[in-house]
Amino acid sequence: MKKTCQKCGKEAVIFISHQGRWLCEKHFKTYFFQKLEKTIKHYKLLSKKDKIFLAVSGGKDSMSLWEALFHIGYNPIGYYIKLGLGPHEEDIIETISQFAEERGLTFRIFDFPKTYGKTVPEIAYKKNRRVCSVCGLVKRYHFNYLATKEGFDVVVTGHNLDDEITSIAIDNIRWEIKELGRKDGPLMEEWHDKFAKRAKPFALFTDEEIKLFADTMGIEYYERTCPFHGEHSTRLDLKRVFGEMDRLHPGFKVQYYKNFLKVKHVFEPYLEELPLKECKVCEMPTRIGICAFCRLIDKTKEV
Ligand code: AMP
Ligand code: ZN
Ligand code: ZN
Repeated sequence: MKKTCQKCGKEAVIFISHQGRWLCEKHFKTYFFQKLEKTIKHYKLLSKKDKIFLAVSGGKDSMSLWEALFHIGYNPIGYYIKLGLGPHEEDIIETISQFAEERGLTFRIFDFPKTYGKTVPEIAYKKNRRVCSVCGLVKRYHFNYLATKEGFDVVVTGHNLDDEITSIAIDNIRWEIKELGRKDGPLMEEWHDKFAKRAKPFALFTDEEIKLFADTMGIEYYERTCPFHGEHSTRLDLKRVFGEMDRLHPGFKVQYYKNFLKVKHVFEPYLEELPLKECKVCEMPTRIGICAFCRLIDKTKEV
């Protein structure tokens, strides 16, 4: 039987599980923009005056976020960090450039290999570390480094609800109490004058909602996953489990996330973290003398 929109009776395209209702394309878009505005306001993520750094990977989440923020009156600058992961990066840059050009949006690229003379995989092999972990460190560092150096007020990323709950659940299953204490909600709560505010406006949006948004808005995005990203099978299986639980108990995913945010503070004392100071080399925030990024690239002397 065809499902119909609970607002207008037209053919439905999606079931919004936490609200228990079906929506057509038009009412889905209205719902999507309203939910985004509500999330931004509730968690105090952005203000209209902010200079916004949008970390754009070319994937459906960050491209949709750019489109949606622009649509509701924000004008973020898209920033892509080129890491030297392979020739597909040129296709990603092409996809993002075209998207930005068509809409008259500003897009910048930070070229890591050109700046440091080495690619991320080269550094990972040399240091005997996983490419994904080095990649994560390099990206996090540069989001903050570029944003603070270039006077941005806030860094936004495209992390969605499915990403957030799977990483919480993985640490939950392993009882990684410190990792649970370290997790951010939609807004990063740690403050330091060399830390740009960090926000995830899509933290309450499911994979399915964002995919549908991208498709209905006609957004071209880069679909292939990173060649180094051997998705952990635990992660993939957990995504499926969450999907099944949400089908059996509508709203399960968002409840799991919101309940975690309520108890997150319980895990924070286990962090036993040292106070933040400035890296002796690059002056970015760190808890030790020289930050993880400067140690990674062997930049250990004061410059
Ligand atoms: P991931 O860590 O690949 O799941 O990506 C999470 C978010 O980080 C994306 O939605 C983007 O906002 C951002 N991101 C990932 N890779 C890059 C990149 N190379 N350059 C800029 N932003 C990125
Ligand atoms: Zn409708
Ligand atoms: Zn440093």
